[in-house]
Amino acid sequence: MPRPAQSQNTAPVAGNPFVSISHSQAGPANPHAGPPVHGRFQPNKKQIDTPIHLIYSVRKINEGPVNATGQILTLLRDSGPASRADLVRATGLSSAGLTKIATSLMQQGILDERQVDNHSGPGRPPVALSLRSDARYVIGIHLSAGRTRVVIADVLLNVVAEDGFTFDLNMPVEALVDRTAQIATQLIDTSRLPRNRLIGIGVGLPGGVDRARRVNIHSSFTNWTNVPFAALFEERLGLPAILEHNATAIALAETQYGRNRSSARTLHVFMGRGIGAGLAQGAHSTERGAARGPVEIGHIVLDPEGPPCRCGGRGCLETYFSEQPILQCIGLDAVPPEGLIARAMESEAWPDLYQRFLQALSTAVTLLSPDSVGLGGHLHSAPEQLLTDLRRDLPRRVMPQQREGLTINRTGLDKPIGARGAACIGLEAFFYRTGPAPLLSTAHMEPA
Ligand SMILES: [Zn+2]
Repeated sequence: MPRPAQSQNTAPVAGNPFVSISHSQAGPANPHAGPPVHGRFQPNKKQIDTPIHLIYSVRKINEGPVNATGQILTLLRDSGPASRADLVRATGLSSAGLTKIATSLMQQGILDERQVDNHSGPGRPPVALSLRSDARYVIGIHLSAGRTRVVIADVLLNVVAEDGFTFDLNMPVEALVDRTAQIATQLIDTSRLPRNRLIGIGVGLPGGVDRARRVNIHSSFTNWTNVPFAALFEERLGLPAILEHNATAIALAETQYGRNRSSARTLHVFMGRGIGAGLAQGAHSTERGAARGPVEIGHIVLDPEGPPCRCGGRGCLETYFSEQPILQCIGLDAVPPEGLIARAMESEAWPDLYQRFLQALSTAVTLLSPDSVGLGGHLHSAPEQLLTDLRRDLPRRVMPQQREGLTINRTGLDKPIGARGAACIGLEAFFYRTGPAPLLSTAHMEPA
């Protein structure tokens, strides 16, 4: 069926006035794709035909173009309700430009307007604009080695529904995507959210992603290589999808919603079966959104003659300090109820294990200069003593200017951390538009 004339070049995604799909940006054809599968979300013809009137004002901030609507939404998310005058000052938009955007956002149920309660000056109390947390929703999917978690989150990253499952690493990837999409669909059904408020899918994956090709690069745990996860989820769920390395997604969520919101540069270290990390710029960084990505802390070589690693090297941190080697070291078959690190810290092997972790973490901090380190996964549930020890020992191993202000904490995000990170990526791409424009396929945009 031919597309409507208006969608030849760009068209808004159904239910989402912020996302336009540029055919010139579309990813490569999906090798798995048969006929387009529309899932349950058929685009609303009326919405497809609506011109994109919101994306009309683009300013340059630092190096990246920032969408004016996204800028307003981000300000209201980070600073709370604000008057129109405050928003004009903060954004540099004209009053008329701001009013036009604000009116449209209110009509779409994204902003509320309310009188300021504690006004004490003369005249009428000013009116503040505030962001409605239920304005829109995203699906966050965290795929890790053998575990999948799916959430639906609102625009403030509150999780309104979640579910997940464990899987055998030999499970065919198409079957894994089918099962995951099925869970997402069940969550949508049971949460009874208006479907036109669902705007996209964020997917967190191990091993890094190729954003331009919209595929994962390689995960040595799962052996997934070049899998077009974005297109696969789009076909099944009928929503635009964006991929990110899982620990990087968590790092970004920490800087935007977690304990490290005041941080300029957050390194999130996540230990599941393996150990990995991600780096993201914080909300107050002048380079916001400019630098983020995976940090292969698990493959920092500590002993070139050490045990073979699944990456092909020898003596990487992960061969000593990840789930399986630690379990072996302490003589257990499975993670104990009190937590892996808690039990390890009681064992004779701990001083050696700790020194290896400290060495790799110090190297990462020396190279990347984060001002906050967040610990997740097994490290999140570690006894407080681990944090005390790291706060004492790590600063001595990095440059003086890197010590200053360096904080080391458990991640400030609530569980499920990985799926929250994935949802954050979805919000950033499809609602706040603070990062690079997502590359989208158009499979789900075919008119019914
Ligand atoms: Zn390795």
